[in-house]
Amino acid sequence: MRFMLLALLLTGASASAEPYHLIPGRVPLDWQGPDGNTIILDAPKGLIVFDTGRSPMHAQAILDYAKQRHRPIAAIINSHWHLDHTTGNADIRTAYPQVKVYASTAIEGALVGFLNKGRAQVDKMLADPKTSDGQKAQLLRGRHRVDHPDTLRPTNPIVKTARMTIAGRPLDVHLAKFAATEGDVWIYDPKSRTAIVGDLIVGIVPFMDTACPDGWNKSLGDIAAIPFTTLIPGHGPIMSRADFNGWRTAYDNFVKCGRSSADKKTCVDGWVRDAAKFIDDEHRGYVRAAADYYLTTRLRSSPEEQQFYCKPLKAS
Ligand SMILES: [Zn+2]
Repeated sequence: MRFMLLALLLTGASASAEPYHLIPGRVPLDWQGPDGNTIILDAPKGLIVFDTGRSPMHAQAILDYAKQRHRPIAAIINSHWHLDHTTGNADIRTAYPQVKVYASTAIEGALVGFLNKGRAQVDKMLADPKTSDGQKAQLLRGRHRVDHPDTLRPTNPIVKTARMTIAGRPLDVHLAKFAATEGDVWIYDPKSRTAIVGDLIVGIVPFMDTACPDGWNKSLGDIAAIPFTTLIPGHGPIMSRADFNGWRTAYDNFVKCGRSSADKKTCVDGWVRDAAKFIDDEHRGYVRAAADYYLTTRLRSSPEEQQFYCKPLKAS
């Protein structure tokens, strides 16, 4: 027993005992916007980084971890193209130019629509004297990525659900079409029974900005069919299977309420009640405002608008 421990100590200098390393993304209440969670996995050819955050601090934390481990970053997997999950790609690619980027091709539709519209908004804010220097720096960082879309595009597009070998490590890679975005990627590690699902689960409130609610619902069914015991959401703390089931019920209730004739306050109250376990006091006001916004824009808008993200955004 003692020898085994010694052997572990000797060989374990740069090995990771945990099945994954989590760099939690923050959800600040001011202009900064959230960082998605980053999950780092070990692989034979180096580290695999699942989502890269938005802020320079978050990207730096990823680079620092790789340095501390004395391992190169071999691959990035992006759960989806939202900038709170992809902005750090460029920082990592600067440090590790050989890195392979695995993501869906949904970025192409985003570039012609959502991100293009967002860019005009960014220019307006940059011209506004009320915008702080800190905020300007963040806006310019995001605009740079939109202006150089190769920093967001996959080098290795994920086009279907399959077992893939990434950086020498086999992983079950799932593609959820028309869910939180046109193409959401999530992975399952059978060895540790961990599902890493990006924004298909966000504890405090589903970020429905580019969502197709029914496709999203279907993807939750696909996740439920996998025998995971641990689930890492796109934002917020790690969940158990029971947590996932609770969140899924809250999601279904919210969408159902949104489509009923119940008043909006009832639906917002319902979300805050059903998802109470995942909402801390600090974020309660933020969550109420976000839930109200998604009811208006995604669940109570015109039928065309409600279906807007349920079809390809760019003709291929
Ligand atoms: Zn996100």
